[in-house]
Amino acid sequence: MSLTTLQKIPFVNLARQIERLRPDLVAAFEAVLDSRGFIKGPHVTAFETAFAEAIQAPHVVGCANGTAAVALALEAAGVGPGDEVIVPSHTFIATAEAVCHVGATPVFCDIDPDTYTLDPKDAERRITPRTRAIIPVHIYGTPADMDAILDLARTHDLVVIEDCAQAHLATYKGRMVGSIGHAGSFSFFPGKNLGALGDAGAVATADAQLAERIRKLADHGRLSKYEHDIVGYNQRLDGLQAALLSVKLPHLRAWTERRRRVAAYYDSRLKPAGVKVIAAPEGAESVYHLYVIEVDDQQKTAAALAALGVETGVHYPCPLHQQPAFRYLGGEALPNAERAARRILSLPICGEITDDEAEYACDQVLAVLRG
Ligand SMILES: *Cc1c(COP(=O)(O)O)cnc(C)c1O
Repeated sequence: MSLTTLQKIPFVNLARQIERLRPDLVAAFEAVLDSRGFIKGPHVTAFETAFAEAIQAPHVVGCANGTAAVALALEAAGVGPGDEVIVPSHTFIATAEAVCHVGATPVFCDIDPDTYTLDPKDAERRITPRTRAIIPVHIYGTPADMDAILDLARTHDLVVIEDCAQAHLATYKGRMVGSIGHAGSFSFFPGKNLGALGDAGAVATADAQLAERIRKLADHGRLSKYEHDIVGYNQRLDGLQAALLSVKLPHLRAWTERRRRVAAYYDSRLKPAGVKVIAAPEGAESVYHLYVIEVDDQQKTAAALAALGVETGVHYPCPLHQQPAFRYLGGEALPNAERAARRILSLPICGEITDDEAEYACDQVLAVLRG
């Protein structure tokens, strides 16, 4: 092969991020120990306020994780047993799990083959008198085609919950995702664009009443300390994770710019070589949680890149309608989702990747694809 020295490019370099922030993270941990604000309290409120401002959402309610965020938003919006909820088949399983958690039935729809987001035309064909909600997933950080989805929702009176687990700060026609639909769910799983040091999540919404219902559901259905007017859950965001997230949040914009620069660089080298990369719907600006290309032989390409020190991933290798867990739904074929799952490969990207690392990764991808 070439004379370049072998490098090791991790898929996500969390170690580098944590090393840079270590003193601030330790200080936040000590502040929580000193205040003993473990459950609810000032650390949670401060993070909710700061995150709401960052994503330009009128209300943010912290919660336990991104899966709970989807379920809380659905339940607070009145979605439950007997209802059908349209979900793209090409997403992480949590999106559909949350539908099941509220007693509703996921109805899988296909994706647009270029943006990998929910195809509104395919979704429309799946609407029945039982359809109550639709969950566009801003997969890879690419906003879904929200205008078409909101049109569909207006025509058929559907609740729209945006799954923003991969899309913190992504914009659609100048608006940040999360409060374009009725509500938006966020995940702060450690590897997400904004990650806690454990599980955490949030729901955003422009609807004050919906926000209050979500807050109540996540906190045992409380009216006051021992007065509960609905049956809720224990799905709060804890004080420690909130304090740690508040350390990271001020860096999110710079990390996002870094991701966008690296994605633009990958585009500039891979597109001219004929590699299929992610497209965004009109007016959508991705935050590149993942940078995904398509290849003919996923396994072989991944193995060849691994041997050259470039770590890759597949997000996700099995569309949800083909998952054993959802076999009982007996879903029909969804050709775009199935084809994508066979061909996609996620390249290294994160807020900490350097220019040299991105260049090395690109060189190796092009070398491997040329054979
Ligand atoms: C990560 C993720 C979730 C779930 O978030 P958790 O915090 O892990 O529960 C939901 N939807 C999508 C698209 C995700 O990527």
